[in-house]
This record gives sequence, C-alpha cells and structure tokens, in this order.
Amino acid sequence: ASFSKSDSNGAEDQLLDEMLASSVHDRSCLSRYRSAPYRRESPYKPSADLVKSLRRYEALHKSCGPQTEAFEKSMLLLKNPHGGPSRCKYLVWTPENGLGNRMLSLASTFLYALLSDRVLLIDRGKDLDSLFCEPFPGSSWLLPPDFPLKFRAIFNKTHPHRFGNMLRSRSISDDVPQPAMVYAHLSHDYDDQDKRFYCEADQMLLHEVPWMVLRSDQYFVPALFLLPSFERRLHQLFPQKEAIFHHLGRYLFHPSNPVWDLIISYFEANLAGATETLGIQLRIYGSENPIINLVTRQILNCTWGEKLLPLPTGERLPGFSLGISFHQPSHEERQQTGREAHDAKALAEIFLLSTADTLVTSAWSTFGYVAQGLGGLTPWILRGPVHAAVPRPACVRATSMEPCFHFPPTTTAQQEGSLRRQRSSHTRPSAETEFRGCKW
Ligand code: GDP
Repeated sequence: ASFSKSDSNGAEDQLLDEMLASSVHDRSCLSRYRSAPYRRESPYKPSADLVKSLRRYEALHKSCGPQTEAFEKSMLLLKNPHGGPSRCKYLVWTPENGLGNRMLSLASTFLYALLSDRVLLIDRGKDLDSLFCEPFPGSSWLLPPDFPLKFRAIFNKTHPHRFGNMLRSRSISDDVPQPAMVYAHLSHDYDDQDKRFYCEADQMLLHEVPWMVLRSDQYFVPALFLLPSFERRLHQLFPQKEAIFHHLGRYLFHPSNPVWDLIISYFEANLAGATETLGIQLRIYGSENPIINLVTRQILNCTWGEKLLPLPTGERLPGFSLGISFHQPSHEERQQTGREAHDAKALAEIFLLSTADTLVTSAWSTFGYVAQGLGGLTPWILRGPVHAAVPRPACVRATSMEPCFHFPPTTTAQQEGSLRRQRSSHTRPSAETEFRGCKW
C-alpha cells in the first residue's frame, strides 16, 4: 500500500515490537505484517515478558497442535479417559453471539491458555477460518474436522461435563478420578457454580484435566486477576493493564487475504487522502420504532459538543480544513452472523474503525470494543439506550480502551440492579444468580 499513517519506520513496526514472530513471511496472510501503517502508532509497547511468553506458547502449540503425535494421543483420551497421561493439555474454544463477542471471548481464552499452559484450538463455526489467518506459526488453531466432540448442540448448560454441574454433583473433586474433559460455561448466563472457575481451589481441580472446552461471549480477562496463581504473572505480562486486549487482539487477529482486500480497497479509495478521520460506530439495540432522528441528534450533540466535528456555522476549529467527507463502508442493516460475506464486511468495518484517529462508539457494543482495542483508541461512548429523548450529555469519554466485562462474577446486588436498568431495552439476559464468592 502506498499509504502510511504511522511515522515510524518499517521492520520494528511491522512486527508490532516483536509481538509477531518474524518467521512467517508468506503471502497467505498479507495483513499480518501490513496492518501497522494503517493505524496510529501505538503508545503501548508489549512487555519483554509478553514477547517471551508468546514465543514459548508458539513452540508449545507447534509441538502439541493438530497433526502431532501428542495431539493424536491426547485425542484417544476422549474415547478412553483412562488411556494414560498426556504430555499436552488443550483448551477448545467454541463461538457464541456476534463477531465482537467472539473476538473478545477468543482473546480472553487465549490468555487463559497462555497462563494455564494449554494449547488453544477453535471450533471454526460457520466461517471463522475464512475470516482470520492462522495466528501461530507452523501450526493450526483450527480443530480438525474429524475431531470426536461435536459442538453447538452439545455444549450448553445441560452438558454433564459442565464444570458447574460437575461441582454440584461432586463428580469433580480431589476425591474422585480426574475426568478427561471438562466444559467451562462462562457465557453471560453462567450460574454461581460455573463462576467457581474463577476461584483458586476450583481452578486447581482443572489444572491437570487434559481437555477443556470453553464457551463464553464475554471479555473475561479481568476475572483472571481474581486468581492468585495468575495475578502476579498477569502484572508481569501486562504492566499497562489498559492495553491487554490491545496487545492480544493485535497479536491474534489478522484478517484473511479476502477480508484484507476489502479493507485495503475501501481504505485506499475513500480514506487514504484524509488528514484526520473520525470513526462513528452506531449500534441501536432491539428498537422496533424508528428513533433514527433522535440518534442523529445524539451524534451531532456529541461530535459538536466535544468538538470532534466543526459546527455548521462555518466556525473554523483549529486543525480542521474545509471539506469534510462522509463514508459508510457497508449497509448490512441487520445482524447475520454466520453468513461469510456478512461477517467479512463486519470484520472489515471493525478494522476500518480501528484506523480512525478518533472514535465514537455505542454503549455496550462489543463491536466497538474490538475496534477501539485494535486501534489503541479511548473512545467517546454514545450513551444509551435512546428511547424518547437524547441523553445529556450525549456521550462520555471512556476511562480506558479496554473492553468492558459485561457480566463479571462478583457483583453486588446494587450493581446488578443498576446493570439491569441500563440494559432494560436490550435482549441480553442477566446472570442467573449472584456469585456467592469462593468460600463453599
Ligand atoms: P454487539 O452485539 O454490538 O456487542 O457486537 P457483535 O459484533 O457481537 O454483534 C453484532 C453483529 O451485528 C456484528 O458482528 C455484525 O455481524 C453486525 N453489525 C453490527 N454493527 C455493524 C456495523 O456497523 N457494520 C457491519 N458490517 N456489521 C455490523
């Protein structure tokens, strides 16, 4: 590409300060080493510990991943749980909800894999393999199609190997033989037994289980800090806590060549000439009545009020030249998760938002969280939901670019109540019960 946004020079920038291994120079994933110039230079540098851990993880993945002897041996354990010890432990991630939810949950799951020495494999769902490049050099993170566990229909709250259920029925404890597989249900509707995943003593029960399946639609990184065995390491890996998703997301998510082509062709045709770009991500939740006039007013109140756009009076704001152009990359109108062409456009749009200099996002939207994290941008958040009037103020500045954890395991009754009120017009169910803590 001819365009270069960041001023810093090539090689160091391409490798994102060595977060990316330098060994994967092939044309199967053009975005891997070409994304950096499209974004503002990141003020957040990955720690030396993180870089070292990523190289160590990549070596582990290569030696235990699909098509290795260790993998074949471990797979046998799923058929015969008493088939002997396995050298490698696995973490199988399964997708849930829209692309933003998936990316946040996948990044969180990868961090858990890193901390617990597990090898991350993903259920590709309908199209994840066509959206993203393989992130780990010389290996694959895709669960082979002949893998013996079937997904979606099976991994839900009634699964007998669901960790919460196993704790309830005492089929996992220090006193019974360890299972070959456990299913950790960490989605928004997890219950207080599932939440014991974040308790040290319960985490110890999971430590040696060779296969773990994990399902979540959440950014659950903050809860990993609750585990004393991980906490110190997390501080070493991420001295800047507000940049965890920023680094994990940039490391893991490289758009596949067809998606990269969408991104670059749109960028070059529409955005490359801009001196400054403002990204606006608009998400209207479950509204049947057209409130678009209110939302439009809210956007204007926000962007004029915060001086992100010049007022129509002709008043010149410092730094603004005349002529402003407006671009909307896709017009999908409604969510169609699982349709490859739709998801490709969604990913392209997330990526394009991440190239903006300034970002305005919608409250509670994981789509916006991913864009802000990849871009290293602390957004202005349009307050919502909007019903009968424009909220005042129309938007507020986020405290950091880290994504929100919508349903954390510890919430006081008061917080839970206020969350419910805020979400009153969303379709999201709230967590079943309040977590009683780790003392059982
Ligand atoms: P959330 O529901 O806002 O938290 O975000 P998700 O990404 O999890 O789910 C919303 C889905 O709706 C996206 O993944 C897309 O499929 C679609 N979507 C929402 N907003 C946009 C948008 O601005 N552009 C495109 N192309 N798709 C969108």
